[in-house]
Amino acid sequence: MDLDAPLTTGNRSLKMYAKRLTKLDIYTFRDLLYHLPSRYEDYSLVSKIAQLQEGEKVTVRGEVLEAKTSYTRSRKSIQKVNIKDETGILTLHWFNQPYIVQNLNRGDILSVSGRVDLFSRKISMIAPDFEIVRDGQLIHTGRIVPVYPETAGVSSKWLRRQIILLLTDALPHLTDYLPNTIQKDYQLLPLRDALQTIHFPPSIESTIKARHRLAFDEVFLIQIMTLVRKQQWRSLKKGHSMTISEKSKKEFLTSLPFMLTPSQLRVCQELQHDMSLTRPMNRLLQGDVGSGKTVIAALGSFIAYKNGFQSAIMAPTEILAQQHYNTLTSLLSPFGIKVGLVTSSSKYDASGSKGKNQKEKKILNTKYKTHDTDVIVGTHALVAAALDFQRLGFIAIDEQQRFGVAQRGILREKGLNPHLLTMTATPIPRTMALTLYGELDASYLTDMPTGRKSVKTWLVPAVKRDGAYDWIHKQINQTHSQVFIICPFIENSENMQTVKAASSEFERLKREVFPDVRLGLLHGKLKSKEKDTILSAFRSNDYDILVATPVVEVGIDIPNATIILIEGSERFGLSQLHQLRGRVGRGDQQSYCLLFTTAESPTSLKRLAAMETMSQGAALAEFDLNLRGPGELYGQKQSGARMLKIASFSDIELLSEAKQAAATIFPMLNSYHELKEIILKIGSDTVVPD
Ligand code: ADP
Ligand code: MG
Repeated sequence: MDLDAPLTTGNRSLKMYAKRLTKLDIYTFRDLLYHLPSRYEDYSLVSKIAQLQEGEKVTVRGEVLEAKTSYTRSRKSIQKVNIKDETGILTLHWFNQPYIVQNLNRGDILSVSGRVDLFSRKISMIAPDFEIVRDGQLIHTGRIVPVYPETAGVSSKWLRRQIILLLTDALPHLTDYLPNTIQKDYQLLPLRDALQTIHFPPSIESTIKARHRLAFDEVFLIQIMTLVRKQQWRSLKKGHSMTISEKSKKEFLTSLPFMLTPSQLRVCQELQHDMSLTRPMNRLLQGDVGSGKTVIAALGSFIAYKNGFQSAIMAPTEILAQQHYNTLTSLLSPFGIKVGLVTSSSKYDASGSKGKNQKEKKILNTKYKTHDTDVIVGTHALVAAALDFQRLGFIAIDEQQRFGVAQRGILREKGLNPHLLTMTATPIPRTMALTLYGELDASYLTDMPTGRKSVKTWLVPAVKRDGAYDWIHKQINQTHSQVFIICPFIENSENMQTVKAASSEFERLKREVFPDVRLGLLHGKLKSKEKDTILSAFRSNDYDILVATPVVEVGIDIPNATIILIEGSERFGLSQLHQLRGRVGRGDQQSYCLLFTTAESPTSLKRLAAMETMSQGAALAEFDLNLRGPGELYGQKQSGARMLKIASFSDIELLSEAKQAAATIFPMLNSYHELKEIILKIGSDTVVPD
């Protein structure tokens, strides 16, 4: 049988259920076979009726004496079924399920599993699982019974019946694609055993080995596919070797307003090495908020420029693009490098040396050529069709997780097999990076510029709100601190009652809390000019407090700000909170982060409390990953995060074993036909394609 055929080619029941099953991401027979139980019900204890004890979970087998429906005074129906074995008679009860008695006949042998209960002070079972015993094996009772993730109209009972049929039909034809040596070396169950056991285990313990085998496969296959891609990437794409003399590099480094940290120096070395090769660089730079990633992108642009190539720097927001434009202009223009800015709302602006030679042109209507600009900074507008590059050789993408794979691809297509540097502060936990992004080379900024103090973080429950405001007041008056106040949404919306909208919060703060203080308001709906004006005003200390939506979340660099207050903090992921917190603590003063929350659930509070004690983004991400799962961490876009269905990113041993196994097998992949076939089948679209 073809496991990859759609379920609509199956039996009548499958045809009927096919649509509902899509809600569980089940489309093909293979999907159904790999729909694994979320837990098990242990019904393996079998008892005689006379021995039943209240409270125990058991299976009883008996012959149906009588099955009838009666009605209560409130017109509800009760189903009573009497069964007997050689030791006694047991009455089973159901409520409002008349079809149950309709389908039972005197003399049927029933197997019944569930908890023993009292009904009208007599031993009974209420709404137990049951099945009529026929020739075949028991499915729903009398054994360890799988309980599956369900959806409307698809019960575990239905799934069990279909999966057991499928196991009978499919397993004999299933080839085990995992090479024997790997199975032996890593002590893995054969695939058939694993699938049989995970669905219908002889014991709970046996499911552990079964799950391990399937989890291993999952990571192993991703790794093999990753290696295939890496090889293709290396053999197909010819890049440009870009080198730089020690003298030029020194010039660049000494022109910086600071000394690079040891890890910045190391990453510069890695970058320089990659760019000197004739295959395009594909490097992911991870560094915590404030660790100084921008200067690395600047060096990349500098090297490209020295070799006669253009660079593109893409940032997720206009505010950030503007800031990068400013930074890169000040770092690069002393070398005569021309930096330009492109955002969707703005004009094209290229200025060689600061402020001078301002050119303004619309890029939206006309096809704009960038030949007089060396470094083009921008938002996703860089991807726009109207924008052409003549000799794009280096691309840096900041906060890469904000961009879809397609956008990155388009930008790369505009270049001449350009070297690519992606940067992120939302730390992809190392284990996850190695598993999913195995084809990238990764660099880490592991230290912070000297003099940084970690940001003191406090959880502020509703009762301490006023006290916190008083304290902020004092800080503003005594030490001229500048403050961010972050509110999650722009407009009040009814289903978000607990969240203060930025605009109304701004008014309220101005009126009631800080009437004597200078407040600014920044949110995503402002025109980019306005955003700019407000941020520059804040930067030059014309405001004490900036009330903002999370638009300030990524990248904004205002060293003077030392306090950040976050409303409704329970609504953010820890990585987001850490990003926000990174807006302060950028200078050498002690900085503070106040997390306002109305959350009361212990889990929410425990999660937020981690912010008080953990100061490193990677650790926080790992913590949140374990608490809430990868979907929450990266949102929908990062589909790769949801790729592991069976294996867990926290199972480091499994991840490294599977990775090692894949590396062993990969050079001989051509001699493993079944494995090769399955890889082609699963297809490369399941791999994060960058
Ligand atoms: P991020 O990694 O969050 O993008 P940035 O590149 O914005 O960090 O750098 C944060 C701040 O630290 C900037 O003001 C930058 O000028 C400064 N900075 C970067 N590297 C160093 C360094 N080695 N020493 C001192 N300050 C640095
Ligand atoms: Mg940054």
